[in-house]
Amino acid sequence: MVGADPRTLEIAANLSAVRARIAHACAHRPEPTLIVVTKTYPADDLRRLVDLGVHDVGENRDQEAAAKHALVADLPLRWHFIGQLQRNKAASVARYADVVHSLDRPQVVTALGRAAQSAGRRITALVQVNLDPPPAPVDRGGVAPEDAAALADQIASHEWLVVGGVMGVAPPAGGAAEAFARLTAVAAGIRSAHPGADMISAGMSDDLEAAVAAGATHVRVGSAILGSRPPLG
Ligand SMILES: *Cc1c(COP(=O)(O)O)cnc(C)c1O
Repeated sequence: MVGADPRTLEIAANLSAVRARIAHACAHRPEPTLIVVTKTYPADDLRRLVDLGVHDVGENRDQEAAAKHALVADLPLRWHFIGQLQRNKAASVARYADVVHSLDRPQVVTALGRAAQSAGRRITALVQVNLDPPPAPVDRGGVAPEDAAALADQIASHEWLVVGGVMGVAPPAGGAAEAFARLTAVAAGIRSAHPGADMISAGMSDDLEAAVAAGATHVRVGSAILGSRPPLG
């Protein structure tokens, strides 16, 4: 990294530390794909990440993601949309997202299915499962575990959507290991009907070890690599 700018050096050091954490957590399991969550960070950081060997980035707000994608559409990246999806954003998201992690209502599946067709882009869609202990807060996204299989079937009925698997976020109060075990169980149910749906997207900066131990195939890590974000305004 001789001659690299200070920001590149900072990201490189954080990335090595996160990759070491993942490798350590894996022991002999296959390594999950690292999705670097770039929300709130500029397009220049995506160029740095590509130079450092990152292939997957995650964004959670359409407006920000679409603008950023336009600046770095030349980069060899897979774009993951991980935020709550509004029906009226589906057309925009379908133009740049390769994978959408946050399908949690029949209406958004329908909207994304139509948008993928209009864009002529085949999109991998994950069922976001709510892992909060009942009563789950209404605004955190995710379908109830018992409703996940039906949503996967609906995704499969759309020609331009591919059922990828499941996504989950650990409850804010803790209990990540138990929550991710429930997610893995839901994933197995979906896989029995859709054998290709082998993605389990789980684990963030603070709980990636628990997710890897539970069998995550994709971890979504932001602040541990790019730095802590200012609180959302
Ligand atoms: C922001 C975000 C992440 C990354 O969180 P960090 O704690 O910064 O690693 C992962 N998943 C989702 C859904 C997010 O919104």
